[in-house]
Amino acid sequence: MLNSNISKYDQLETHIQLIEYFTQSIYKSNSIEDILWDICNNCIQKLNFVDCVVYLVDNATNDLVQRAAFGDKVAVEPKVKDPIRMRIGQGIVGTVAEKGEYEIVADTSVDERYVVDDCIRLSELAVPIIFENKVIGVIDSEHPEKDFFTSTQARVLTNIAAICAHKIAWFESKQQNEIAINFHIANPNPALRISVLGDVLDHNEASLKLLEAMKWDSKVIRCLNCLKSIRDVVHYGNRVFFLESDTTSWKVFCESVENKSYVYIFATDVTELIQAKKDAEAARIEKAKFLSSMSHEIRTPLHAIISLTDLLNSTSLNKKQEEYLEMLKFSGKNLLALVNDILEFERLELTTVEVDEVGFQLDTTLQMLLDSFRILAEEKGIYLESNLQAISNLFIRSDEQKITQILTNLLGNAIKFTDSGGVSLDVGIEALSDRSLRIEFAITDSGIGIPTSQISEIFEVFKMVHIDSRKRGGTGLGLAICKRLSEYLGGQLSVESTEGLGSKFTFSFNTELVSPNCDIEETTGDKNQLLNKRVLVVDDNKVNLIVASTFLRQWGAIPTEADSGFAALELLEKSQFDVVLMDIQMPEIDGIQTTLKYLSNPKNPVVPIVGLTADVFSNTRDAALNAGMIDLITKPFNPRALEATLSKLLDS
Ligand code: ADP
Repeated sequence: MLNSNISKYDQLETHIQLIEYFTQSIYKSNSIEDILWDICNNCIQKLNFVDCVVYLVDNATNDLVQRAAFGDKVAVEPKVKDPIRMRIGQGIVGTVAEKGEYEIVADTSVDERYVVDDCIRLSELAVPIIFENKVIGVIDSEHPEKDFFTSTQARVLTNIAAICAHKIAWFESKQQNEIAINFHIANPNPALRISVLGDVLDHNEASLKLLEAMKWDSKVIRCLNCLKSIRDVVHYGNRVFFLESDTTSWKVFCESVENKSYVYIFATDVTELIQAKKDAEAARIEKAKFLSSMSHEIRTPLHAIISLTDLLNSTSLNKKQEEYLEMLKFSGKNLLALVNDILEFERLELTTVEVDEVGFQLDTTLQMLLDSFRILAEEKGIYLESNLQAISNLFIRSDEQKITQILTNLLGNAIKFTDSGGVSLDVGIEALSDRSLRIEFAITDSGIGIPTSQISEIFEVFKMVHIDSRKRGGTGLGLAICKRLSEYLGGQLSVESTEGLGSKFTFSFNTELVSPNCDIEETTGDKNQLLNKRVLVVDDNKVNLIVASTFLRQWGAIPTEADSGFAALELLEKSQFDVVLMDIQMPEIDGIQTTLKYLSNPKNPVVPIVGLTADVFSNTRDAALNAGMIDLITKPFNPRALEATLSKLLDS
């Protein structure tokens, strides 16, 4: 349902674009051929037709004659090969011409009227072109699949036929001394001409509602309300704006005419489109909410599994148990990586991701990143080298987290897909001006490489080139995420590779230099800040409580457990704590409400509250910080990161 609302909106938008196109292009076309070939070409491209043929009535014989065709009958030049002639009443096209109503034939194989042209196709749509209540032609399309055509396509095509009918008739009758607006009369969309003084010079029937919305004075035939827009168009060129009445929304185009003191106004009814857009927006929000709660539901038990394997690991185990535990941990981590990647990818798709710029020392960040990969490379017996000379002691302002996320993925892949030789990270810079520069990272590996035929698809979602990618711990989403993140940074991501020899991924972005002491995060020393610190752990999930308390004890802290927000408030009243670890999603009273309740009483002693959540969405973070929490950590937490956060907090 949600996805269908989104695709309905996309489809409607294409249809409206098509109608908009004809509303304007028809005015500029110089011959019947221009119009007919334009219809065929656009219907194929925008409505996914495989062919499109336009027949016009030959007044001398009263037959229908093929005048334009796209599809298998296309000649290199706009000319129909062996144009078919058909009597009115003959075949599906002839019936439509006779009745003056469109027809969709879902299965031509059971319709006796079907006339085989160049080949048999299983469904057909034919729409009449009507001028002054008389059929002057038919637009016809066939498709190899049964039941291909929809009533929406028929409606769009009927609209196009109505827009084009008058101009076709006008060319046919050669009465070219008629004023231009004539061919807009049957246009179901508003078309009018307004002078720079606001006088409505010509208008068609469909314009009346629009003029009403523009508050024109029909007595003096003047539209003072739109004067400014019209003068802007005359002075500054064509404009597009939206206009709404109580019941209708229009997209309005104002077009100036060289050396003329009037403008043309064409409008398209976009009421349905705007409603569909609202529905699609609502569906997107629903999807985001669904993902947010799913992320919690899936990540919480996963967190428990992974954390318990960590705990089990520190107990005495026999060889077999160790082996099983290792496999359990690998599968758990893989599943978590997949869930995280899906959520991250959806987050990037659904929400507006902010670029969070901070000042930081680039080589320090990269060094830490490389250190975290060193063990992995050593385990595989491959080298991991770097050349960071160009950025030594360089302080930049950028989104450190996103850059790290991209490089983590690229380095991780390079190591993952390299079994001998190794991986190197090289960084180059190019000065763009005094303070701005371009930084380019190149991650080169001597791994299995990527076949040339697949290289263009490598950044697509769930693309895994190698059969053993999954075994190597892949999800097929990493590069798609990197690509989007690099777009958010205004950067570029590209790849060169030779199968069997290795790959080189290049990521570059523009940034600016900053002075060393600007908002650099301080790091804490080795001192154990957690020793004997009283920590209140609040979580409704028993396993989470056990895991957090066990780690806290290992770090020398004294944990107290509360299994609900109310229990936490009671404990906070009775005893003193140095820090509170508060789960966000809890029944009855959640972590945010508990925090608000505690902090709203000024008599309560100040205690830092750190939120814990399995929810990865930024609005949860905002809500937590707004409620007064000092920080928010996502679950499953990395024990070292949690220890570092708590130590830093207790040190200050
Ligand atoms: P995965 O989680 O599978 O690594 P990615 O989106 O990061 O997902 O990568 C997609 C696919 O691209 C991988 O499965 C692999 O087939 C190929 N690939 C990515 N990086 C490399 C590399 N450095 N060398 C060889 N193949 C790679």
